[in-house]
Amino acid sequence: MLQNLDCPLCNSPSVPRHLFDMPEPTPRSGSIAYRYDCPVCGTYRISDLLIDWLGHSQLTSADRLHLSTAACWHATKGTPLFLREPEDMNIFVQTYEAKAVAALISAGEVQDPWRLPIHAVDRATELKTAEAKILAHALLERRVVHIRTRVRDMVNPDERAPLSWWERGE
Ligand SMILES: [Zn+2]
Repeated sequence: MLQNLDCPLCNSPSVPRHLFDMPEPTPRSGSIAYRYDCPVCGTYRISDLLIDWLGHSQLTSADRLHLSTAACWHATKGTPLFLREPEDMNIFVQTYEAKAVAALISAGEVQDPWRLPIHAVDRATELKTAEAKILAHALLERRVVHIRTRVRDMVNPDERAPLSWWERGE
């Protein structure tokens, strides 16, 4: 059965969805699942109960962007997400976030924290640079990471530019 409906992750309108039987249904996943082919999130599968849960949840637009980006990343990697229960969304998003956080931190001290570290994120996550920047902003906003800055040398003009680095949030 094929229907066109809004994407439950990013709310894109009229996304094709296909019904399929839920493998190993649980009380928290229900017994029906769908495959969505979203132009933004890529292809992913999701349970009926989770679609319902997303409809009622208080997710912020940053959360939705995150979820959508994680789904797209997995679809591009050839390992499409199968979201069955609310907990699944945390697991998938965290794996993806962990790569981004590690990349930001491993970039070390730089003059512009929005250049080299962002490229480290796009390499680690295979996102486009603009998307990696959005992800880094979202992580910063949620205090998963923060940016520290130190002045190098006030006297020597060549060494005046401050250095910044990314750290894990508290
Ligand atoms: Zn979508």
